[in-house]
Amino acid sequence: QAKQLGRNRYHLYDLDAAKDLQTRHRELERIRRALQHGEFRVYYQPKVNMRSGQVVGLEALIRWQHPEKGLLSPLSFLPQIEQTPLIIDVGEWVLHEVLAQMGQWLQEGYRLSVSVNIAARHFQHIDFVFRLEAILSEHPDVSPHLLELEILESAALDDVVLMREVMAACQGIGVSFALDDFGTGYSSLSYLKQLPAETIKIDKSFVHDMLDDQEDLAIIEGVIGLARVFRKQVIAEGVETPEHGLLLMRYGCDCAQGYGIGRPMPAGSISHWISDFQPDWKWPLWADDCWD
Ligand code: C2E
Ligand code: MG
Ligand code: MG
Ligand code: MG
Repeated sequence: QAKQLGRNRYHLYDLDAAKDLQTRHRELERIRRALQHGEFRVYYQPKVNMRSGQVVGLEALIRWQHPEKGLLSPLSFLPQIEQTPLIIDVGEWVLHEVLAQMGQWLQEGYRLSVSVNIAARHFQHIDFVFRLEAILSEHPDVSPHLLELEILESAALDDVVLMREVMAACQGIGVSFALDDFGTGYSSLSYLKQLPAETIKIDKSFVHDMLDDQEDLAIIEGVIGLARVFRKQVIAEGVETPEHGLLLMRYGCDCAQGYGIGRPMPAGSISHWISDFQPDWKWPLWADDCWD
């Protein structure tokens, strides 16, 4: 009896596994088809300097305009492909799309620097630098100096020596780096010293809680202090209210990004957003009485 039960269970498990595999396969195929059929979009979110109120650049964020389900967040489809070669196809599509858009903006008189998120698996691919150069050369009107790559702090720690080399090679062609979601990895400070990233992005989870959580505030203070010592620019993500912005500014944070400043939006809305963005009324942070 027991033996039979066991065997049945084994069978059930086997069937489940096969079904899982099939579902996964179908999902991957659907994402591949979305890429071929042009269902992905790139949204752009502004980043501003908190002291001057100037727009310092944009972050490119992928979306899936699904014909039935509507606009989907990257968190609903990127994790499925993160460990497959498809992440490289999607990543390269984003790079092309962003560079073409930057060229378009240049023609309209906007010289905007844009950061693109790169998955660890993509960045660690043997051909990454070679392919990046090839993609850049297809957009000769856009200076590589306008392109920044965001890599996760946690990914950067996979293999510090490799990361360091690839980053240096990219910097050799003019591309710069930001360490994304900083503080959520388990980085030892000595790793930070070894990574040549120009910018550190404070993860939004700390910003979210900093107004009522002393520990999160201490982490933010620590990261900003660290950035200063290592001569890196620091930007806070997830800045939703002027209270966040004011406190961050008081602690010496350079730049901010978040719903409180501007939501991610289609490329076509950016020029309007920039000309409408008047720091002094849009966000009280820049009002006279907020200065120091
Ligand atoms: P991330 O790079 O840390 O991007 C910031 C995320 O925070 C974005 O979510 C953005 O929409 C969201 N956000 C911005 N301001 C606020 C705010 O004030 N409050 C809150 N709660 N959230 C805010 P999104 O667009 O859903 O992207 C999620 C993650 O997906 C990104 O996190 C990034 O890791 C990844 N991702 C997005 N686009 C790409 C891409 O093209 N390639 C790769 N490899 N990853 C991408
Ligand atoms: Mg990012
Ligand atoms: Mg982030
Ligand atoms: Mg994140």
